[in-house]
Amino acid sequence: MTTLNDLPIRDDLRGQIPYGAPQLSVPVALNVNENTHRIPEQVAQDIVARVAAAVLGVNRYPDREFLGLRTRLAEYLNRETGAPSSAAGPALTAENLWAANGSNEVLQHVLQAFGGPGRSLLGFVPTYSMYSILASGSGTAWIPAQRDADYELTPETAAAAVREAAPDIVFLCSPNNPTGTPLSLETIAAVYDAAPGIVVVDEAYAEFAPDDAASALTLLPGRERLLISRTMSKAFAFAGVRLGYLAADPAVIDALRLVRLPYHLSALTQAAAEAALDHSDAMLAMVDDIRGQRDRIVTELTELGYTPHRSHSNFVLFGGVEDPAATFQALLDQGILIRDVGIPGHLRVSAGTASETGAFLDALRALSS
Ligand SMILES: *Cc1c(COP(=O)(O)O)cnc(C)c1O
Repeated sequence: MTTLNDLPIRDDLRGQIPYGAPQLSVPVALNVNENTHRIPEQVAQDIVARVAAAVLGVNRYPDREFLGLRTRLAEYLNRETGAPSSAAGPALTAENLWAANGSNEVLQHVLQAFGGPGRSLLGFVPTYSMYSILASGSGTAWIPAQRDADYELTPETAAAAVREAAPDIVFLCSPNNPTGTPLSLETIAAVYDAAPGIVVVDEAYAEFAPDDAASALTLLPGRERLLISRTMSKAFAFAGVRLGYLAADPAVIDALRLVRLPYHLSALTQAAAEAALDHSDAMLAMVDDIRGQRDRIVTELTELGYTPHRSHSNFVLFGGVEDPAATFQALLDQGILIRDVGIPGHLRVSAGTASETGAFLDALRALSS
């Protein structure tokens, strides 16, 4: 039988492991931070109608510049920041927006355009496992930098690490996966000032932050090396469609256009995403509930004697787990799938519906008594 090692594969890919959160069919799946609520029936019907209309035109290539979608994404972000206003800066337009099949592909475009052999990407660990995988796939050197206590990151610590390494690209994840901890705008601005190159803020979970938490979008005016990436996979309950996006200076978008494959966003993806964005209030209707379940997890885990970390996302990382692998398996035996992210003494759980969250908490309470 042929194995990977028999193939003339790139030397730097030998021995590597692909991204692989378990995909198991279980009653309660709280392991990859999806929105576990289904999308509203009314919206689903509109999406189907718009996709059906698009199907009639699939003999032609889709709009390579996906301008309708970029316009809607700009409008969505402007609604969130209140732009244009003096505080939020000028409104974003389609020229400031980019999108791809998931924000993972958006980040890959960033690495293809600004990273590569002889260049480097810095991130503050523990952080999203895809960053180092994307670095490796693009031949970019990965530089893991350290955080402060409790996975927080002060402007001083962050800027010092960036100044010392002088990386071509910095990925900041806020709120950070897998810890849930947000970054202050001061930390992001300090990293930008210290960085010689591109700074990406991955805001995959931004919609789950408290209402008074400002997005890094408000830092964009005057910072042409700052990129803010977002996704429809989490709050928008659209993970299966694969749509991530990014806001930045129009010159950055021109750079990403150099490395994308032509027609990378299918006509069906564009139609589905445009329809969903036309119903963004309905699509985001469950976010308040999910935030409530997240806060419930933090409260009840604390009562059980665990040490949950501060979270602005739809998941909670908690410490105080004596044997994470055993607890993970005991929960799985009861049909509840959470995530062992490899941090000693810790596990991560996504906030689900009230009943899914309750099933997790009840099972853990039974295990802990
Ligand atoms: C889930 C997640 C993403 C989203 O990836 P998609 O490709 O858009 O589904 C991006 N960044 C982080 C940190 C995530 O946790």
